[in-house]
Amino acid sequence: MDYVFPPATRSSVPVAGSAARFPVRRVYCVGRNYAGHAREMGADTREPPFFFSKPPDALVSGGGDVAYPQATANLQHEVELVVALAKGGANIPPERALDCVFGYAVGFDLTRRDLQQLSKNKGQPWELGKGFDRSGPVSAIRPVVAVGHPARGAIWLKVNGELRQNGDLRQMSWTVGEVIANLSVYVALAPGDLIFTGTPAGVSTVVRGDVLEGGVAGVGELQIRLV
Ligand code: MN
Repeated sequence: MDYVFPPATRSSVPVAGSAARFPVRRVYCVGRNYAGHAREMGADTREPPFFFSKPPDALVSGGGDVAYPQATANLQHEVELVVALAKGGANIPPERALDCVFGYAVGFDLTRRDLQQLSKNKGQPWELGKGFDRSGPVSAIRPVVAVGHPARGAIWLKVNGELRQNGDLRQMSWTVGEVIANLSVYVALAPGDLIFTGTPAGVSTVVRGDVLEGGVAGVGELQIRLV
């Protein structure tokens, strides 16, 4: 195939314990999937799940230094369980949804909260508050064969060593299987899709120089420094 210029490199994420990487197709995110965070954002607690996307090249894998994004004065962290799919389909029944999962990772849904709030106020898309460059730091993926399907256990984030988010996967309003099934009603999912599954309460503003360290029990940890 000839292109008029070289195509962009495909995004990929390391797989723990493997030399092979996980090739990323799409990156979906669930909004307000923990009652505590829904409340701090001023919403009801168990609305149907809703979704937005990040561009796959917004992922930053493996942690380390992450450049503070442009055009915001209120960058916030959201620590999330990330689901990596090895199979897909449309209208996936909830009871078969977990069969699609390749593995799990820890992700930070970095958010330009000021831009997101402006969009909300105007009834406009969240795109630029959520889907910006380097907005998706993510750990290595741990395969299901190693970690099973985590449904309980701590999900936490510290800023400069101080605990800010301290939730439990049991607090998810919609389980991983329900999220996959519901999303597949609207779009056909496929191998390579990632789903950020929402964040517990405690989001806060971070600035250049801050060290963000987060984890999900049984899945892993992720650390970045904003530079
Ligand atoms: Mn989020």
